[in-house]
Amino acid sequence: MNTTPPVWLVGAGPGDPELLTLKAARLLAQAEIVMVDDLVNPEILQHCPQARLIRVGKRGGCRSTPQAFINRLMLRYGRQGKRLVRLKGGDPCIFGRAGEEAQWLRDRGVEAGIVNGITAGLAGATQCDIPLTLRGVSRGVTLVTAHTQDDSELNWAALAAGGTTLVVYMGVARLQQIQQGLLAGGMPANMPVAMIENASSPLQRQLACQLSQLCTAAIAFKLKSPAVLVIGEVVNAAALAHSYSETSQLAG
Ligand code: SAH
Repeated sequence: MNTTPPVWLVGAGPGDPELLTLKAARLLAQAEIVMVDDLVNPEILQHCPQARLIRVGKRGGCRSTPQAFINRLMLRYGRQGKRLVRLKGGDPCIFGRAGEEAQWLRDRGVEAGIVNGITAGLAGATQCDIPLTLRGVSRGVTLVTAHTQDDSELNWAALAAGGTTLVVYMGVARLQQIQQGLLAGGMPANMPVAMIENASSPLQRQLACQLSQLCTAAIAFKLKSPAVLVIGEVVNAAALAHSYSETSQLAG
């Protein structure tokens, strides 16, 4: 019987340490080595005081640890039978590369397990009282990243026509493309948009505006990464939306 423990790819959730799963907390408590991404709230590391920490941040555009190096490190410890947790912000399978990393390890004979975390888009919406689906308003949610490796554009027209709530990750540097693409695709100019920065952490800030105001509102608000956008009629369900719809004022 193979008794080598799997390498665990674990979601740390969006920021609030209480949004961690019990399974994640247990695996952290048992871990010998924890490889930590930079979107992980450091408070979560209280669950693994005994573990050796290796920081492997990979923020877009910043200095980052090359993926190949991270893979090799995971493989080495996995083969040594170390209890290794690779801790990622949010959910490891939502724009978190868990799919690639797990496959890479499995192809080399190292078992990999994945533990969900609460992804930033879900947490951000909920923190603002935005229900991502709502009977009679939105029958679905589409999670997209605005940032691609090859800089190709998403099919914004199809997303505009889809009629689901859109949650956009990694969009702060591409607000113009998002706004123009959705408007050109036929999304109404007055479609409400919520931007939520540092969701579920004490640093959280949020703002609602209309799609036609997205870029100017974000500049005035000094929107910074990490932030998600929630685009859709469901934003109107939240008190946040009234900050713009009644007064057209920007609110923090
Ligand atoms: N796996 C992560 C996403 C990683 S991609 C998850 O499931 O949440 C990085 C992007 O996630 C950021 O550019 C931002 O769009 C979003 N993000 C991550 N943490 C966030 C937070 N606390 N608040 C708002 N957006 C966040």
